[in-house]
This record gives sequence, structure tokens and C-alpha cells, in this order.
Amino acid sequence: PRLCNHCLNPACVAACPSGAIYKRDEDGVVLVSQDVCRGWRHCVPSCPYKKIFYNWETNKAEKCVFCYPRLENGLPQICAETCVGRMRYVGVVFYDMDKVEEMAATKNEQDIYENTVELILDPHDPEVIKAARAEGISEAWIKAAQKSPVYKLVKEWGVALPLHPEYRTLPMVWYVPPLSPILQRVTSDVYLPDAHEMRVPVQYLASLFTAGNTEILARTLQRVLDMREYMRRRETGDGPIEHKVDLTEDQMYAMYKLLALSKYNDRFVIPSDVKVSREGRLEMQQNRGFACPTGGCQ
Ligand code: SF4
Ligand code: SF4
Repeated sequence: PRLCNHCLNPACVAACPSGAIYKRDEDGVVLVSQDVCRGWRHCVPSCPYKKIFYNWETNKAEKCVFCYPRLENGLPQICAETCVGRMRYVGVVFYDMDKVEEMAATKNEQDIYENTVELILDPHDPEVIKAARAEGISEAWIKAAQKSPVYKLVKEWGVALPLHPEYRTLPMVWYVPPLSPILQRVTSDVYLPDAHEMRVPVQYLASLFTAGNTEILARTLQRVLDMREYMRRRETGDGPIEHKVDLTEDQMYAMYKLLALSKYNDRFVIPSDVKVSREGRLEMQQNRGFACPTGGCQ
């Protein structure tokens, strides 16, 4: 899949002379209208992530549609549902639309990531809930935002980062940066290396996720390392973790549960007013003869 980031400030939308590309009000999905597209192809080079392509048969631009027909029926995107590593999470985030332009224009590119996180609003905040209701956002969406795994990973625990924030499109697909294979020593008091000692250099990961800011990148990796250290100590009874960055024990345990043990309905929290139940979904798949190749979706 060439998963589009469904950016808050999409360069493809700005580049289209026909106005064929738009970001949907209801869920933020960025789409190309096949009726309006005139094949100018300005969108193709304008997307810094190279997500739009040109269909030479139809002479129209095409891109990932975030599986919107599934989304509208409460189903996760097919690339997320069928990921054999179960590493994709899908959820709602509320954001302050009036601040998008200002945040995208942040002078120092190394501040763009933190500014983007600031745009994301706390769905438990009574003021945010009130404003959401005033905008006509349904209770199902508010509840989904409150349960959103994406909100937790991005905002509550700060372990997911956007790819190349310096492109200023404010992408809405987030990545938990990888821990390298751990080849380090086990000494009496140190089991895991710290973020700066990992095999993939922090500088390299920072060039992908934080516009080169190694401090933010190391802090992010350290939170994931802390969670692992916390869980190890919890199992071995080695006593409390000493060098943790900033997360509480409850937060580390909740993060462990989401990243390691979560079930289908924890990974995909999709609001829909015509939501298909899990039983209905399975029945639908069986009727169509669909079977998950790994059994992971069953
Ligand atoms: S990733 Fe590219 S195609 Fe997708 S919304 Fe952003 S700029 Fe547009
Ligand atoms: S969300 Fe749907 S359209 Fe987009 S890459 Fe995944 S499967 Fe393809």
C-alpha cells in the first residue's frame, strides 16, 4: 500500500489547479474527485511523500483513499486490518483547525513536530467536548476520540512521531520509531542500553522523524525502553525502574497493553453511525468467502 498521510496541510490540495483534491470535512480523508480531475499532474510532484500517482489509462490522478467506504461502515482500512504484524492502529484525533496554518509556518523546522502535537486536543476536556458538540460532531465520534489508540500514542505518551515534519504538510500517519535489536550487556543493574546506545543511530532516526532534533528522538525511544525495563522489573521483582524519562508506571503498563496485548477493538476504534458489529463483520467476510491468511483477524 502507498498509504497517504491525509495531511492537515496537504500540498496536493494546494497544487491542483482544478480543485479536484479535497480534504473531507467529516473525517479529514484527502480524496481526488475523478470527475473534476483534468490530468494536470501538478499533484504528483507536489506530494513530498510521493503518494499520488497518475493513471495513464484513465488520465486521472489517484491516491490512497483511506478505504473510506469501509471507514464509513465502521471498518478499519484493509492495509491496517490485514497487517500480519498487527502493528497498525487507527483512531480519531480532534484538532484545532484554526491553528493549522500558523503551525505549518513554524519558523524553526525542528519545532514543527511539537507544534503539531499541540494542535491535537484533549477529547476528555469539557471545553473540547462542548466545542465538538457545537460543531455537530456526534457522540459516537466524541467517544471514539476518547478511546483513540492514536491519541494515546501521539499525545498522552508521546511515543509516535510524524514522518518528515519539515515538509510542513502536518501528516496524520504516525510512527513509533524502532528500537534496534538489543545486543547490549546485561550487568547487575543495567539490562537495556539507553536510547543513544542503540545500533540505529539516533541522528539517522531524527532525520526521518524530528527534522534532525536528536533530543526529542532520544526522549521518544527512551519512553519505549522505559516501558520494556518497567515490564521486565515487574516480572522479575527487581525493584522500581530508576532512570525513567517521564511516564508514570500506570502509563507504561497501559502502553505495554496497547502495544503488546491489544485486541482488534483496541487497535481500531472507528466511529460510525452505521457501525457494523464485529459479529456482523465476520459474517460478512464468511459470506464472501474471505479468510484471513494468518487467522489473526478471527
Ligand atoms: S501525503 Fe501527499 S497525497 Fe497525501 S495528503 Fe499529504 S500531500 Fe496529499
Ligand atoms: S488505507 Fe486503504 S487505500 Fe490507503 S493504502 Fe491502506 S488499503 Fe490502500
